[in-house]
Amino acid sequence: MTDIRIQNLTKSFGSTIALDNISLYVASGELFFLLGPSGCGKTTLLRSIAGFYTPNKGRISFGGHDVTKLPPHRRKVGMVFQNYALWPHMTVFQNVAFGLENNKIPKAKIKDLVHEILEKVQLAQYASRKPNELSGGQQQRVALARALVVHPKCLLLDEPLSNLDAQLRNDMRCEIRNICKEHQVTTVYVTHDQKEALSIADRIAVFSKGKINQIGTPTQLYKFPSSRFTAEFVGETNVFQGVIVQIGSGEAIIRTKIGNFRGILSTGINNPRPGKKVYISIRPECFRLNDFPNQENSVRGVIGNVTYFGEVAHFKFERDGVILRISELNPSHFTNVQNKSMYVTVSSEDVVILDVD
Ligand code: ATP
Repeated sequence: MTDIRIQNLTKSFGSTIALDNISLYVASGELFFLLGPSGCGKTTLLRSIAGFYTPNKGRISFGGHDVTKLPPHRRKVGMVFQNYALWPHMTVFQNVAFGLENNKIPKAKIKDLVHEILEKVQLAQYASRKPNELSGGQQQRVALARALVVHPKCLLLDEPLSNLDAQLRNDMRCEIRNICKEHQVTTVYVTHDQKEALSIADRIAVFSKGKINQIGTPTQLYKFPSSRFTAEFVGETNVFQGVIVQIGSGEAIIRTKIGNFRGILSTGINNPRPGKKVYISIRPECFRLNDFPNQENSVRGVIGNVTYFGEVAHFKFERDGVILRISELNPSHFTNVQNKSMYVTVSSEDVVILDVD
């Protein structure tokens, strides 16, 4: 098992700074995600870890050993690309055996190792098929088996599910997590899909413009974002402006256009004080619709569009030109509420106070 340490990594392409002084630590056996919008530098970091790019500055180490200058084949990483990159003329067995043959492993041993890994990814019966005789999900598992069979120090996955349809993507997410955990392999996984990251990551680094915005577990990022960028990129949220009117320990009361809210101060807020302009972020599912107000954190307004999905309904709620998005689970008791005047209430631990960037 191997941990990965990235220290002050910078990588530019001409005048584009793809990675700007990045530092992060991936623990041994961890499933670690790099999440961010297109062009933020995720793939550049992954390819730098694999050794395909040489950074301008900084250091990469595996298990305490500096690998920054090692060529890719000496780093012992397994990589799975977006398009799987399987050899079309080879069978599943031959695709998976390729890396072992390169390592001069005896033929009998190769046979055992390939069969063992194909069993694990549930492809043993497809060993003699060619890639074009397999479904997208099966090809994806061949690519995983090929990367894992050489017992890599770490596994690097670049958008491995992007070619699959929605249902298969869901199934494969859990399968990837199970395989990584079973092999106890340190895994770095690149995606721009926040649901993919939230559902299976141990921890996630949120990237923006070549920098890390926040690192945390899925719950930490979702419940306690430290910036407006993370709040909006990881899940849906309502963000609106206000001013701090009172400050307590780790919390504050914010005056906004639609009323006062008590909330928690995010870790990213700089020098909070009365009079400071801030944002507050409230997830749609944290609001409760009611006919009566609560003592605090209640707003009266009018229900706009209602979209019913069965298990959940989405409501637009308007007050003084501010539109809030609200979702209610099991919404059967809120039929025919469009245009009705109602209250929304939110608990103070679900109101996150963020710096104005
Ligand atoms: P995506 O999700 O679209 O793959 P990403 O977050 O992986 O995006 P990168 O591919 O790492 O982003 O690109 C980061 C920045 O570096 C972008 O501005 C991109 O145009 C630039 N870049 C990446 N690779 C190269 C290259 N080989 N030559 C020049 N510029 C590059």
